[in-house]
Amino acid sequence: MFYKPLQTPSRTIMTPGPVEVDPRVLQAMSTPILGQFDPAFTDIMNEVMEMLRSLFQTKNKWAFPIDGTSRSGNEAMLASIIEPGDKVLVPIFGRFGHLLVEICERYGAEVYTMETKWGTVFDQQDIINEMKKVQPKVVAIVHGETSTGCMQPLNELGKACHEQDILLIVDAVASIGGVNIPVDEWYIDGIIGGTQKCLSVPSGMSPITYNDRIEAIIQKRKKVEYGIATEEEFATKRTNMIRSNYFDLAMLQDYWGPRRLNHHTEATSMLYALREGLRLVLDEGLYERFGRHSYHEAALIEGIEAMGLKIFGDRTCKLPTVTCIEIPDGVDGELVRKLMLEQFGVEIASSFGPLHGKIWRIGTMGYSCRKENVLAVLYALEAALIRSGFEPIRGEGVQAALDYYEAPVFISF
Ligand SMILES: *Cc1c(COP(=O)(O)O)cnc(C)c1O
Repeated sequence: MFYKPLQTPSRTIMTPGPVEVDPRVLQAMSTPILGQFDPAFTDIMNEVMEMLRSLFQTKNKWAFPIDGTSRSGNEAMLASIIEPGDKVLVPIFGRFGHLLVEICERYGAEVYTMETKWGTVFDQQDIINEMKKVQPKVVAIVHGETSTGCMQPLNELGKACHEQDILLIVDAVASIGGVNIPVDEWYIDGIIGGTQKCLSVPSGMSPITYNDRIEAIIQKRKKVEYGIATEEEFATKRTNMIRSNYFDLAMLQDYWGPRRLNHHTEATSMLYALREGLRLVLDEGLYERFGRHSYHEAALIEGIEAMGLKIFGDRTCKLPTVTCIEIPDGVDGELVRKLMLEQFGVEIASSFGPLHGKIWRIGTMGYSCRKENVLAVLYALEAALIRSGFEPIRGEGVQAALDYYEAPVFISF
């Protein structure tokens, strides 16, 4: 059998992930491999930890990536904390809240949920009231809900959790690097990010950070693999060991820490990619980057509304990195997406569960979050709508975005 060399079509990716990867990151990925204990490589590991502390705006000792897609960070964090029977409260406002429930249940938690309509978020006080009733060990919550384009305010929740001795775990996969999340200032105990969204690095790693409250829990559950354990460690019997080997933060810590105790083989090329992605984030400046995300989001919204389309969801809690559009009555959402992809090479997303077939989702994330991409998504969407038999307000979408770009409203933090 003869196969041609790999060749991919040219695309403008405007989904909520995976998004376009900065060419400098792609270039970094072709850097030669180093051995995992080569000091030249462990120096890179240390640098990445330092850069992650800056990204998360934290003084936490532990900040490193989990090898696996973004949900691997969620699973590592929850698996390492939760023991069977532990109470976890999960407020759900979209698909990824259900994912947190699913992971917690698999590790034996007694899960309590609260739900709000997709397209809205919770009043933090309602969560705090529920915490008082349930008295959970952990509150696990999504920050940027990719499925609905909504962002949960978190500035008061962490402090309330600390006062009640509850841990706050946050899934910030879709928001980290695109939206301001001051982890320490908000008293977040453990937080999970993703690479393929606002960091514009390929999918395959999940950066996390956690504080000493979480470290204390996982140290008490630490069990080191036979074959690499000291005699003393091997003699220590644990009845409460972390139920996953791959996602055992206690062992991963010893791999990322000075002991360099071998766990898995670090994903060398992905680490190069993450390092370059983080370097670009810090070089741009965190606040400049958040500003850029809001700037292009605003241009996109101007264009969508000028076309006569409606933004889905409560605008007061809109996630700046994902814009959801109501699919007009009678329009085949999948046909429009297909036309955009086939005719223009522009990709947007549909949604899940109750919103499937009801909304489109457009990401403005990382390297994809730039003017020519916003304009491309607007003209491709307009043309595809007309082609599929719907009449938008012709010509106005791109013009409104261009007007905005000529005289932007500056967004401050
Ligand atoms: C994308 C996403 C995930 C899952 O990421 P994978 O890389 O597909 O595992 C989890 N949570 C949120 C909020 C996301 O947006």
